[in-house]
Amino acid sequence: MTFNVAIVGSGPAGFYVADALLQSGMSIRVDMIDRLPVPFGLVRHGVAPDHQKLKAVTSVFEGIADHENFSFLGNLEVGRDVDVAQLRQAYDAVVIATGAIADRPLGIEGEELPGSVSASEFVGWYNGHPDFRDRVFDLSQPNAVIIGNGNVALDVCRILSKDIEELRRSDICEHALDALASSRVTDIFLVGRRGPTQAKFTTKELREFGDLVSSAPVVDPDELSLNYASIEELESPQAGNAPRNLDVLRNFAKADAAAGKPKRVHFRFLLSPARVLGTDRVQGVAFERVELSGPAFNQSTVPTGTEVTIPAGLLVRSIGYRGTPIAGVPFDARSATIPHKDGRVQDGQGASVDGVYVAGWIKRGPSGIIGTNRACGTDTALAILADLQAMSGESPDKQGRREQLVNSLRHPSRRPVDFDGWRRIDTLERAAGAAVEKPREKMTSVRAMLEAAESNSLPPSAV
Ligand code: NAP
Repeated sequence: MTFNVAIVGSGPAGFYVADALLQSGMSIRVDMIDRLPVPFGLVRHGVAPDHQKLKAVTSVFEGIADHENFSFLGNLEVGRDVDVAQLRQAYDAVVIATGAIADRPLGIEGEELPGSVSASEFVGWYNGHPDFRDRVFDLSQPNAVIIGNGNVALDVCRILSKDIEELRRSDICEHALDALASSRVTDIFLVGRRGPTQAKFTTKELREFGDLVSSAPVVDPDELSLNYASIEELESPQAGNAPRNLDVLRNFAKADAAAGKPKRVHFRFLLSPARVLGTDRVQGVAFERVELSGPAFNQSTVPTGTEVTIPAGLLVRSIGYRGTPIAGVPFDARSATIPHKDGRVQDGQGASVDGVYVAGWIKRGPSGIIGTNRACGTDTALAILADLQAMSGESPDKQGRREQLVNSLRHPSRRPVDFDGWRRIDTLERAAGAAVEKPREKMTSVRAMLEAAESNSLPPSAV
């Protein structure tokens, strides 16, 4: 008997679940559904365009997709073209791996003003996500503020501060390159509400700011001074990147900020956002100067009564992503994740929802690097495999129902895209990129993607 598994979402978590299932030795067919015609989720639309090495993982995903029991069903949206109840009827297991792409609100006055944007919009824009490609950002003012001290904030900061020639050979989208080429932003303020030892940067990404062609890092040594609990954090075996990050920041503080470079990245700490300034658009951000209080690794901010204002025409809020609910699947609004035990989705009473599983950011929240999803996806796959083994022989054979559903989803009126269709898109994107010495020039509209996927003149083998 062949078991059928549907995976909703084609990012790293979905692919790692698929891999573990297809390599398990059991007879399993995997159908991976994505609302976009293109696969790979945040590897395509999240990873920074100038970090091409991180995108090399797509060749691993392509190898997984080559398996004879794997199908990609792109341009099909769960909730629009098919619902979870239908999937549960047609598949032995349904895995939700939809990630977390919505932004978290800051919850301060003025946050909705024009000129205040979320990192998910800005990242989606420069990475050519169809939902965000038409956004326009005001890059006409000299100052930009980025709130948040995670790797996404560093990505946004690098894209704003890099020399345009440094970006030209990346796979940044043409529309973003054009807008950035005429950017007048010269001073980018990267603001953390806590201190340098609490920043979530990885050191490699932080260090890059010392090597940018036209931008110099600026750090006020006073903002690097540490309280006792922070020193304890730094000396603990759980310190993570903090000691190395602090070394990098101390070196930045010693460097000659002027350094003859036209742009500056100001790393600021211990400034908690209080309100966005401006009446009809962003004119700056007011911060409360804070101190840290509480035990090591659990320090919170205490206002000092001093306000610090940074004038700026652009505010990017980069304070973490948030998962969104899927109709028919339980959702914990507080953590913005799907409640689960070992990857098995649980209802409000703590009982497992039969045949429904979860993996990736929508399971554990938006944290970790791409590779973190491998262990996460494998854990979920192990739960699925155990349940499939337990039901062997007892469960109704869903083969017929799966075929019926897939046939209806593959109806030409829905314009579904299979993996060969993606390979056609990929071939055209790489060719367009090669013409301008870029790894690829991405298609940014669903319409262009569908036309490329459906073009008969280009065999997928042309890749
Ligand atoms: P993140 O690492 O969770 O960082 C979020 C930041 O926002 C933290 O500094 C947090 O500070 C701050 N924050 C939260 N609420 C705030 C508030 N109300 N006011 C001010 N600051 C606030 O999230 P992320 O940067 O979105 O990254 C998501 C995941 O993707 C991370 O695991 C990251 O490492 C990964 N990623 C990796 C790479 C890479 O490897 N190159 C690139 C991009 C993303 P507190 O600590 O004080 O809460």
